[in-house]
Amino acid sequence: MKHTPSLDDPIQFIKGVGPRKAILLEKLRLTSIEDCLYFLPFRFEDRTQFKKISQAVPGEYVTLTGEVLNAGTMFMGRRKRVFEVIVQDETGVVRAKWFRFNETYMKEKFKTGQKIILSGKPTLNKRSGLEIIHPDTEQVSGENVSSLEIGKIVPVYHVTDGLHLKSMRTIIKNVLDKYLSLIEEFLPDDLVQRYNFPPRSEALAQSHFPPQGSSLKELDAFQTPAQQRLVFEELFLIQLALACRKNHVGKELTGTSFKTRGELIKKFVKLLPFTLTGAQKRVLGEIMEDLEKEKPMNRLIQGDVGSGKTIVALTALLTAVDNGAQSALMVPTEILAEQHYLNILPFCEKLGIELRLVTSALKGKERKIHFEDIKTGKTHIIVGTHSLIQKDIQFKKLGLAVIDEQHRFGVMQREAIGKKGDHPHLLIMTATPIPRSLALTLYGDMDVSLLDEFPPGRQKIATDLFYENRREKAYSIMEEQLQQGRQAFVVCPLIEESEVMDLKAAVTVFDFIQKCFPDFTACLIHGKLKKEERQSIMSRFLKKEIQVLVSTTVIEVGIDVPNATVMIIEHAERFGLAQLHQLRGRVGRGNHASHCLLMAYHPVSEEGQARMKAMQNSGDGFVIAEEDLKIRGPGDFMGTRQSGMPLLKIANLLRDIRVLETARKEAFHLIDQDPGITDPKHQSLNKALQRFLGNYMELMEVI
Ligand code: ADP
Ligand code: MG
Repeated sequence: MKHTPSLDDPIQFIKGVGPRKAILLEKLRLTSIEDCLYFLPFRFEDRTQFKKISQAVPGEYVTLTGEVLNAGTMFMGRRKRVFEVIVQDETGVVRAKWFRFNETYMKEKFKTGQKIILSGKPTLNKRSGLEIIHPDTEQVSGENVSSLEIGKIVPVYHVTDGLHLKSMRTIIKNVLDKYLSLIEEFLPDDLVQRYNFPPRSEALAQSHFPPQGSSLKELDAFQTPAQQRLVFEELFLIQLALACRKNHVGKELTGTSFKTRGELIKKFVKLLPFTLTGAQKRVLGEIMEDLEKEKPMNRLIQGDVGSGKTIVALTALLTAVDNGAQSALMVPTEILAEQHYLNILPFCEKLGIELRLVTSALKGKERKIHFEDIKTGKTHIIVGTHSLIQKDIQFKKLGLAVIDEQHRFGVMQREAIGKKGDHPHLLIMTATPIPRSLALTLYGDMDVSLLDEFPPGRQKIATDLFYENRREKAYSIMEEQLQQGRQAFVVCPLIEESEVMDLKAAVTVFDFIQKCFPDFTACLIHGKLKKEERQSIMSRFLKKEIQVLVSTTVIEVGIDVPNATVMIIEHAERFGLAQLHQLRGRVGRGNHASHCLLMAYHPVSEEGQARMKAMQNSGDGFVIAEEDLKIRGPGDFMGTRQSGMPLLKIANLLRDIRVLETARKEAFHLIDQDPGITDPKHQSLNKALQRFLGNYMELMEVI
């Protein structure tokens, strides 16, 4: 039977790709024809113009032609070998160098007198002059000049050991030649016309091999019409999925409508030792409006560290209880769960509400009783970790779930807690503000409330960087604060992937602190302590019986002790920006001026320095988040997989935020008009979306 070509064909269908190459390609996650089509060059090289060797400028990419003067292996030290090819033209010489090479192959390739073309970034070697490390080279022999490499703007792909850039280009070219006719348009006509997009197949072809006259600058910035179209379509499909999902939650699911601002809430507000901020009132208003509807709430609160999210959450939790339902608060760590529990407990006691804590520390008989009470409805509010979504927990009637610090959870957990009830209302809170582009993708199906105001009296947290030789200065700031009756955190970093080692490091710091501050009580808290011990330390710290809390990073999120005004972060250079900002947010919660003292150790990487600078320059979580995204790049930002972030093949959330906004607008508009994407004119779009979603199980689950 004759095989009908399809984009799902394995890559081995391509001429020149045998089993060996297929394995190498798989390392790049390229297994099918379609994978290759979307494997776009990450930059381009202009080989339209050849330069003379004398015109080459160190640091600037060039393409040169010349003749091999001499070639061979050089030894540098005992083990280091370099293959060096000296190339000359009528204006001078340049040395090409390889540090990893196959000698036989190289000797064969670079014979004296051979005419070659080489491309790369020259550097100036003090001893031997102009050189290019690992250039791309090409032999020139009569007509045997590959048209993919010379006289053009040439694509540069990520490759892997053993797979040369040159064969990558050939493979992609062959893929395009053979399969391009299978590429179908799926964007609606009116979109293509309005945005003046090139046809899909043309866009793909040109994004790999740019046509004559393309601008290198535009190409490298991903700004050509061909590239922009591909970015658009990828983001459009994601936004379309999110729009479907939102629409599905909005129109088809029914939950329970609550009566808001009831007696319980009135009593609760009277118990508060402060008045709500304007932002808290506004966000609560938005939440109440959601809760009154039958359609389940699906709302995200974005509020910087210390903006007062807990009270907002508690009001929502109590509203559910006031309506005869249960509610749950899920957080990422045990210690944070315990903290929330302790914070909320006094209110619940005064209001006659049954509150329970569920973490993995809960064992045996106690666990059984807790679970029973949750099942029978005796327990009203449950605070816990992801233990809350384990199989054997059953709620009598879960009416509302709040997830705090959601960036630690994936979309899956969001779904899982929702399944613990009959379409409960869902509220998600993020403390590390995430850049807008990520929010639109990760939470694109949610309504968003911004808690953009701090409780009154907050002061800027003075943030300073210290190295070991100025430790004394840092300690004197801490001492001054302690003497005024304030308290301090000292955070020790993750040294290794081993809790034992972390603990050892923390113990060392703790001993040192005790020596340096004999007049004050210090205590060490870490993840290995029993729950009771941790709780007792935390409550003693709250009661000011302990002045200095030395800890491993377990206290990273959520801890609330307004009298603490000093945060020392040991090995601050090892922490990520979001984490540093979170940690800093543990101080500056009361009316007192606070300090964040970053202790760094040489050598600090360039990125580390950028992080330290960002911390010193800004206290605004959103600015820090944007900075973080810039330093790290979007791929790394959220720890992609675990966060449920779709893996983008083409778009880049940092670079393409404008296209993202447009794609989002168009996708939501389309779903407005054609909710099920059933209009015949959207048939190929529907097909494309289904195909696309095949790769994104998390999103697909609900559509
Ligand atoms: P986060 O948003 O980081 O979770 P919290 O909810 O822990 O912040 O609140 C930070 C601190 O601010 C807590 O000590 C809390 O009691 C206090 N707080 C919250 N709202 C107000 C308010 N309206 N006025 C004064 N203090 C407030
Ligand atoms: Mg919080």
